[in-house]
Amino acid sequence: MGHGISSEAVLERIRRWVEIESPTDDTDGVNRMADEAASQLTSAGAAIERLPGRDGLGDLLIGRIPGELEGPGILVLGHLDTVHPVGTISEQLPWRRDGDRVYGPGIYDMKGGNALAVHALAVLADAQRRPRLPVTVMFVPDEEIGSPTSRPVIETEAVAHKYVLVPEPSGEGGKFTTARYGIARYLVRTRGRPAHAGANHQLGRSAIREMAHQILAIESMTDYGRGITLNVGNIRGGTHENVVPISCEAKILALVPDQAAETEVRERLLALKSVDPDVALEVVPGLFRPPFEMSAEITRLYEHARGLAQEIGFDPKHRAAGGGSDGNFTGALGVTTLDGIGVVGDGHHTFEEHILASKLEERARLWLRLLETLE
Ligand SMILES: [Zn+2]
Repeated sequence: MGHGISSEAVLERIRRWVEIESPTDDTDGVNRMADEAASQLTSAGAAIERLPGRDGLGDLLIGRIPGELEGPGILVLGHLDTVHPVGTISEQLPWRRDGDRVYGPGIYDMKGGNALAVHALAVLADAQRRPRLPVTVMFVPDEEIGSPTSRPVIETEAVAHKYVLVPEPSGEGGKFTTARYGIARYLVRTRGRPAHAGANHQLGRSAIREMAHQILAIESMTDYGRGITLNVGNIRGGTHENVVPISCEAKILALVPDQAAETEVRERLLALKSVDPDVALEVVPGLFRPPFEMSAEITRLYEHARGLAQEIGFDPKHRAAGGGSDGNFTGALGVTTLDGIGVVGDGHHTFEEHILASKLEERARLWLRLLETLE
C-alpha cells in the first residue's frame, strides 16, 4: 500500500485506529489497539518491543527506527487509551464525516495524532529513507488515568532522548503546547466519633461537619489570577441520617502553573488542621503530573517547528495548556518537549469529539519535516 501524504491517505490510517475501541479499563481493547499500532509501526520499519500490561492495564508498545545520525534521538510519545466506553462508536459517536469534520471516539485525543506521526514515518520508509535522528515511538496504555504503570518507562526513555514530540491534540486553532500546568490529586479524610443522632447527639463528633469546614478552606485556595485552582470534585461520608457520621472523604484536583505554586499548594494542604480537635484529619497526596515550563530549549524547538510550518503554509501559535499529558513528565525532567502537535479539532472527552480533515495534510507534512530536520 502506498502512503501518499494527502488528507485522504492520513484519514484512512486514522480510521484504522478509531475503529478499535480502547478505553483504559478494557485491557483486551487496548491490546488490540497495540496490535494494530505494532503492525503499522512494523510497516514503517520499526523494531517492536512490547511490555506486558501490569495492574490489570494494557501493554506498552515501543517501536525503534534507526536514524541517519547516531542518537540520542527523538521520542514520539502517545497513548493508546481513550475515555469512551466500548459501544460508543456504534451508538453516541459513530465514525462519520460532516463537511470538514470527522467524528469518532478518541479521534482527537489522540488517535488522529498518533496516526499522523506513524504516517510520516511510513512515508519515509516507502521512500527507502530514514529520519535524521533515531526515532523511538512509545504508545502507553493508561494516560487517561494518569499513566500509573507507564510513568517509570516514560521517564527512563525520555532522559535517553534529545527531543520528545507529543502528538496530543493541538489547542484552539491548531496551537502547539509549549508548557503545561501541573495537576495534583489529593484525598482528604476526616474521622469523628459516632453517636446516636437522637439520643446522644452531643457525644458525637461529625466527620461531615468537619469536612464542610475543610472544603471551604480548600476551595478558597483557588487564585484565578495566578492560575491556581483547587476543585473538591467528589465527597463521600456518613452511613445513616440517624448516626453522627464517623467518616468522610473528599477528592481534590489542584491545577498549578509552575513548581513554586505546586509546592505552595501542597504545603498549605498538608498543613490543614481540624476545626474540631476531636476529629482527625488526614491529607493524602495522590497521582501527580508535574508542571513543565517553556525553557529556552523548548522555545528553540518551537521556533524551528514554526519555521517549518510557515514553509508548508501555516503558522501555529503556542500555549500553556491547563490539562495534563505525558509531556508533563518529560518536560518536568528537562527533556526538550514539544506537545500538542497532533490533529486540529475539538470536543475531546465528549460525544462531539472530531477533527478537521482539511488540516491533516499540512500537519502530516510538518511531522515529516521534523523527522527530516531535527538533529
Ligand atoms: Zn490525550
